[in-house]
Amino acid sequence: MKLHEYQSKFRFAEYGIPIPKGQTATTASQAFTIAEEIGGPVVVKAQVLAGGRGKAGGVKLAHTPEEAKKHARVILGMDIKGLIVKKILIDPAVEIEAEIYLGITIDRAARRSVMIASSAGGIAIEEVAAKTPEKIVRAHIDPCLGLPNYQARNIACEIGLSRTLWKQFIHITSALYRCYEESNASLTEINPLVVTNGNQLLALDGKMTLDDNALFRHPRLAEMRDTDEEAPAETLARQADLSYVKLDGEIGCMVNGAGLAMATMDMTKLFGGSPANFLDIGGGAKSDKVAAALRIILADPNVKAVLFNIFGGITRCDEVAHGILSALGEVPTDVPMVARLVGTNEEKGRAILAQSNMITAITLAEAAQKAVEAAHGVSVK
Ligand code: GDP
Ligand code: MN
Repeated sequence: MKLHEYQSKFRFAEYGIPIPKGQTATTASQAFTIAEEIGGPVVVKAQVLAGGRGKAGGVKLAHTPEEAKKHARVILGMDIKGLIVKKILIDPAVEIEAEIYLGITIDRAARRSVMIASSAGGIAIEEVAAKTPEKIVRAHIDPCLGLPNYQARNIACEIGLSRTLWKQFIHITSALYRCYEESNASLTEINPLVVTNGNQLLALDGKMTLDDNALFRHPRLAEMRDTDEEAPAETLARQADLSYVKLDGEIGCMVNGAGLAMATMDMTKLFGGSPANFLDIGGGAKSDKVAAALRIILADPNVKAVLFNIFGGITRCDEVAHGILSALGEVPTDVPMVARLVGTNEEKGRAILAQSNMITAITLAEAAQKAVEAAHGVSVK
């Protein structure tokens, strides 16, 4: 789950990271009032869960409350990378001397979290990595030690930060790390962390990604979820307690078990197809869950065939077959379906499916092959 800029920055502030004292607004007249209260030049910033808002015209400087209102009118309702702006942040504007990049994320290969810093802040870090990789400093963080001051000082030195800012930098990096750890985040990012004309460090932008699997520990953070900004399929999947990841292929996959789901995707690839999604409906999937999953899969216009691959263990195949049939009743479609059921009560399960016009298969290879053929318009029995 991603947090908006204002949510991330307000969270950073709880850890003592300095941020501009801004407020959010949903209307242009609110923007006017906030700008008036701030009483100087302000920045009007679109709150959407996408980067590069500056380039897209979603970050604008205003010298007067009137101008802030004018910008707010333009930015509210703006489409940025397919997301409609519904909220804006009004921050006091700052005179910038330098822009720094500072982030923490997981380096899976190193099995550590890594702090990334660069003197080339303000632009996407991917761009810096591609064009001037020498400007990126990485420091892996020992989970037992946390981020000791000497490590933060090394980073400050390596990005060429003025010595007069080291104390502030150490304070900010250690706060950012605590925030990252205590939020179970997979990313905390400040881009840019600016040096103001008063020689103060200030977090002008903020981004956080939280580990969904740890959200139960953070009810206050979980409440911040903005479902408007999620792909509808992902919202539905989460509500139905399904593990779903959308992909670009044409074969919808409905599988019970994450490993089996991955094997199923590999098999469709092997036979020349391409999976439209990863989906694990979990154990004991009843018809309502199967129906929810089917609705999600079929809502994707790229899907040309659906492949059910169910292993009946504790969940019996006949129960799943009933689930599939009632789901098909709820979600009428012309998309061809291939089902492979194995395990407990598989014969019963197949007999039940025989009542529908589903294509059945015994082995996974056979099922994958049939699904690929069906997706490519071959008539399959
Ligand atoms: P992003 O484009 O989505 O990453 O949005 P940012 O919040 O990072 O803003 C983009 C850029 O706008 C920053 O890198 C700054 O250069 C500029 N900017 C944002 N706030 C201010 C401000 O208060 N003063 C000035 N001068 N520039 C700002
Ligand atoms: Mn930014």
